[in-house]
Amino acid sequence: MAQNLLILAGTTEATALARAVAARGIPATLSYAGRVERLPPQSLPHRVGGFGGAEGLARYLSDAAISHVIDATHPFAVQMSRNAVSACASTGVPLIALTRPAWREEQGDRWHRVPDIAAAVAALDRPRLQVMLAVGRMHLQEFAANPQHRYLLRLVDPPGGALPLPDVQVVVDRGPFRSEADRRLMLVHGIQMVVSKNSGGSGAYAKIEAAQSLGLPVLMIDRPVQPSRHEVFDVAAVLDWLGHSGTDRGV
Ligand code: NAP
Repeated sequence: MAQNLLILAGTTEATALARAVAARGIPATLSYAGRVERLPPQSLPHRVGGFGGAEGLARYLSDAAISHVIDATHPFAVQMSRNAVSACASTGVPLIALTRPAWREEQGDRWHRVPDIAAAVAALDRPRLQVMLAVGRMHLQEFAANPQHRYLLRLVDPPGGALPLPDVQVVVDRGPFRSEADRRLMLVHGIQMVVSKNSGGSGAYAKIEAAQSLGLPVLMIDRPVQPSRHEVFDVAAVLDWLGHSGTDRGV
């Protein structure tokens, strides 16, 4: 069967893979959830929006004659990843995940680890702080339970309307970021604590390095548990897998 890839996107890794695949002339489609207004520059055809659960994805794989699925979604996008495992298992389409190892606490870090967003919200039930809240736009509502803090947000798109937090400053920017710039940002805003998902990867690590250099505590949200699947950490490993035909079907 001729190669025709589906790349589940929304990360810098997906964009890097798309460039490599396009450069080799391999037919492929990038898929985005549609959460951001400005997509990164595209080197491949793309589609936007959910598939309609695992069944919808399975239908899409058959209708579009997809030969391989590369799940390059964010480590916290666990629903999409579960759907990919399930749809690939039911259709027999080979699946690989291009992801990143989690960050590990290093000497000099002051991490307080919490298992999920709800636990991060609970940990912020304390007197006022200046908090850099780096959890993405979708979870802001949950942090409204602690309106006493001044929050600094960094968003990919300008906020279209009112945000659910009363005391908030917004920086609109897209990664990858640099630690020296993040250090300056934290100093300018008098940040006292950073709240972050343990996303892994280099582009989002700048704020963790910056917090370390300033001796700031980081409320680090652990990753959700991903389904069992074949995982690799770089584009070359995906290309290698494709070259060897990706025969480990759906695992
Ligand atoms: P999620 O909770 O795992 O997914 C929820 C639903 O959104 C999925 O069931 C699927 O809808 C749709 N969806 C998610 N990713 C998709 C994709 N690449 N293409 C088509 N549909 C997709 O995902 P999420 O956490 O909302 O993340 C959404 C997107 O943002 C992902 O592409 C992810 O890579 C990116 N992102 C997420 C985070 C994060 O912290 N979660 C951070 C940076 C980037 P259907 O069930 O209808 O198919």
